[in-house]
Amino acid sequence: MDLDLTPEQIALQARAREFAHSVVRPRAAAIDRAEQYPWDIVAELAKAGFCGMTIPGALGGQGRSFLDAALVIEEMAKCCTVTARIVVETNMGAISTVMAYGSEAQKQLAARLVLAGDKPAICITEPDAGSDATAMSTRADKRGDAYVINGRKHWITGAGVSKLHLIFARVFDERGEQLGIGGFLALRDEAKGLSVSKREQTMGLRGMPEGELTFENLEVPADMAVLPPSGFRRGFADLMNAYNSQRVGAGTVAMGIAAGALELALDWAKTREQFGRPIGEFQGLQWMLADMQTQLTAARLMLYAAACSHGPDGSAFPDPMLAAQAKIFASETAVKIVNDALQMFGARGYSRDLPLERMARDVRMFTIGGGTAQVLRTLVASKMLGWKLPQTRDGYVPKRSLRDAAE
Ligand code: FAD
Repeated sequence: MDLDLTPEQIALQARAREFAHSVVRPRAAAIDRAEQYPWDIVAELAKAGFCGMTIPGALGGQGRSFLDAALVIEEMAKCCTVTARIVVETNMGAISTVMAYGSEAQKQLAARLVLAGDKPAICITEPDAGSDATAMSTRADKRGDAYVINGRKHWITGAGVSKLHLIFARVFDERGEQLGIGGFLALRDEAKGLSVSKREQTMGLRGMPEGELTFENLEVPADMAVLPPSGFRRGFADLMNAYNSQRVGAGTVAMGIAAGALELALDWAKTREQFGRPIGEFQGLQWMLADMQTQLTAARLMLYAAACSHGPDGSAFPDPMLAAQAKIFASETAVKIVNDALQMFGARGYSRDLPLERMARDVRMFTIGGGTAQVLRTLVASKMLGWKLPQTRDGYVPKRSLRDAAE
């Protein structure tokens, strides 16, 4: 595996860094305080070509790789987590699913919106179906040329700001027979019956709305069902496969926050003086810095490796095992690195005048959203054991011994 960046990737990274420093960083604290989605930054991101980079050239994108996107995400995350998440979700996650499995019309619709800055919402989690996502009760009933969706989702990122929604629901045919779990594209502007019923009051990431969505007889034309070749029966597993790119993206945001915090801490260690010398001269802090850098490098390498990998089926998505390991490691080490960076600032780290406390609140999310660190460990273990465990979100497992299921 060649993890050296090409001259083009180095140039892209430099362009992203310059953008993050000049456009994003000056706005980051205000976005957090106002708890408002940064439409001004979205417009600038779209203008600079950072939205929809991974969309193929034929659809107006740049056909860039997930690693390219990760390089941009890290630079944004060093300055503003909300901005970094917008870059994730306009290049990975729901948009990857549509690009992989969507019809030509669906791809064109999604590309048009995302290239203009729309961050698609992916709607899976329900009050009674979190880690156990396949327990979802939202349903899509076929009625003539449409599906009628009823149900409720919560913790949906972008609720109330996203136009495009990829909604997961149990699919029933006209006779009421259940076909499996499918994904459906709906537009907020046009859709009647898609409403935001609550905004969550979050610990961090406050400029990105998280909300509850209610679907009341939401009619989605049948040709807006995103259908992988396996159809609805195994559709959930395939659609979720695309989510491995999102996991790499989320891990990269966490790693980028940690990188930003470490940059600040390193600077501070050289300039803050106590006992007549820079605090960086104390071995206690030197070892903290060395550990932070070591963990950061390990996380970055795992994320790069996952971003460049392909699933065992040769799919265009990152390998599920590598993506899960990278997200577990990056999210957990990032929490630790940011916490240590804050510690090195003493009381100032606890102040809202500096970005450390915001970073500490923001980074905490990444061991939870997009598959908790515990559930991702289960996924890794199931691959190691060769057992298909019910918790791994890749489909229905009949109730028989796990050893039988492996055979
Ligand atoms: P639960 O499933 O109730 O888990 C509770 C605890 O039990 C956790 O610690 C979990 O790790 C542990 N646990 C559960 N099952 C197991 C097991 N089998 N083995 C070991 N431990 C277990 N969802 C969307 O669909 N779309 C979004 O855009 C979205 N954005 C989000 C943004 C944020 C900021 C957050 C916080 C969440 C978001 N989510 C979204 C939801 C997220 O995916 C879920 O929160 C996550 O899957 C966990 O579900 P839960 O919160 O219901 O926790």
